[in-house]
Amino acid sequence: MPGGNLTIIGLCVAGGLLVVLGVIGIVTKVRRAFRNSILGQIYNGVKNEVSEGKVGPEDFSMKQELATPKSVSDLSTALIPRINKDFPDLSVSQMQSAAQAVLVKSLDLLMAMTTGNNGDTIDRIQTELAACGIGVTRSLSEELWHKVGSARAEGKTLIYRDVIVHKGGINAYQKTESTVEITFQYSLQCLQYQERNGKFISGNRATPTQSRYNVKVVNILDADRLTAEDIKGVGFTCPHCGAPVKHLGTDVCSFCGTAIKTVDMRIWLVDKLVEI
Ligand SMILES: [Zn+2]
Repeated sequence: MPGGNLTIIGLCVAGGLLVVLGVIGIVTKVRRAFRNSILGQIYNGVKNEVSEGKVGPEDFSMKQELATPKSVSDLSTALIPRINKDFPDLSVSQMQSAAQAVLVKSLDLLMAMTTGNNGDTIDRIQTELAACGIGVTRSLSEELWHKVGSARAEGKTLIYRDVIVHKGGINAYQKTESTVEITFQYSLQCLQYQERNGKFISGNRATPTQSRYNVKVVNILDADRLTAEDIKGVGFTCPHCGAPVKHLGTDVCSFCGTAIKTVDMRIWLVDKLVEI
């Protein structure tokens, strides 16, 4: 019966249509739910960045490291008492904040100084870092200045956007006969990538890069003051009797009672920033 066949076909078509409509309904609901989810919001944000040309397809092949900050090896509990014993007047937490500021400012300067050449000199690095609450060694400024120079030679702009420091702690405290070093460790994230002539060349613009840095602070003789005051032989031994100065923060020799100028003549400077 042809009519019967037509009816069956008609029912099948109607049934198929219902199934299709149902699927479309589910898909629409799922899409709406996805759009409202955090993942969906990120997806839409990225989609907008793509349409605005800020993000290219190359960004999506990168390993996704979203929201997984690097851990920090923080030995503060063990090390603070040791540091306080040697330097009773030193505020370690204040130094930790200042060293963090130097780290963030350094990334900021690398970006600013490779974005355009404004007749910058190494002195700009030295001055701007010193404004962070702790001085820096000339060798640190030279290292950063060298990075700026190599990037400029290749026509590269080093981008460090939206820097967030997750954690920080004291990682090491080391003493030798002539030096004392405190190493702070920080975990930070930022959008880290490189551009040439305003065009993306490497890195990741879509997902923040998670990284970990060691910031080494050294306690060294202040060369300027040493020269200015023409004092020789200032160090870790008593200038009168030659006994070793056990507590670096002290100002009197525990052996002969002579006043010691070690503290006066020494300063704390950030000496190294190392990504690890
Ligand atoms: Zn002495």
